[in-house]
Amino acid sequence: MRKFIIAVDIGGSKVLCGVLNRNGEVLMHSRETTCAAGHPQAVIEQTERMVEELKLAMGLKKKDIMGTGVGVPGPLDYQAGIVEESPNLRWLKYPVREELSKRLGGKLLLDKDTNVAAWGEYYYGSNRKYRHLIYITVSTGVGGGIIVDGRLLHGLNGGGGEIGHMVVAPGGSRCGCGRRGCLEAVASGTAIAREANALIARGKGDMILANVGPGQPVSAREAGQAARQGDEEALRLIDQAGHYLGMGIANLVNIFNPEKVVLGGGAALGLHDLLLPIIQNEVINNVFSLHRRDLKIEMTRLGDDIVLAGCAAMVLNNPAAGK
Ligand SMILES: [Zn+2]
Repeated sequence: MRKFIIAVDIGGSKVLCGVLNRNGEVLMHSRETTCAAGHPQAVIEQTERMVEELKLAMGLKKKDIMGTGVGVPGPLDYQAGIVEESPNLRWLKYPVREELSKRLGGKLLLDKDTNVAAWGEYYYGSNRKYRHLIYITVSTGVGGGIIVDGRLLHGLNGGGGEIGHMVVAPGGSRCGCGRRGCLEAVASGTAIAREANALIARGKGDMILANVGPGQPVSAREAGQAARQGDEEALRLIDQAGHYLGMGIANLVNIFNPEKVVLGGGAALGLHDLLLPIIQNEVINNVFSLHRRDLKIEMTRLGDDIVLAGCAAMVLNNPAAGK
């Protein structure tokens, strides 16, 4: 019986590859910085090499592998398997599924990374399945995956769930998509870092600076550290990001009435002690009692492996895989 799943998580800053078993457990994984500033062909070659190295290390043959799951940054034309335009990877209309299929062979299932993560959360995030679930990642950007009655919401062209581009601050900071005040532009790790840098440029933010290592850039992490130390300016930055995230999530809760909203991604995981209470408070105060009655807002327990877990879920639940 085929027992193993190959999982690939391609991002703007890192490529993560793993071998998982039928229980969605990561048996072995490797992580590298995304090469050549994200040029598509170079990243595909890097991915192929990383997968081959893992297979070699585990002695896996073609007959052992059920299939390969892949998560890529959106916006992705889901049916065609084409990354339309990725600001992080600088891919433009790149047929990633076709290119990866040629190189990796076998059954390959591919979706937007945040959708894959939502699947991972749905299948492996808790002891039971929450059929109405929204997953939100807060890292370099803000993204999400929406599961309604046990089905991922793809929309017509696969663009569903672009949570990060919901406008929550009209006229606010410019977003990578060109609009102003998107959730991503005001509440991502990048946005928190930008605000922290702006504070420092104004001669404030001494406590943030005090947490920055020599030669290191200011990131959301240092703003979080200063906030934990009681720095008013840093607390205000984090509070603002949490407020916007809460506002966006409240909008989603009112529209989709989920049972669970799960947060993940580097910035959310790193700042969860600060952000989660602000978000929970904001949501509870801005949705109907019907919507908040059974609502849970939590951090994912899957950490950085959430997309890999979702890859396994995609493969295991595809009727054509494993034959
Ligand atoms: Zn945007």
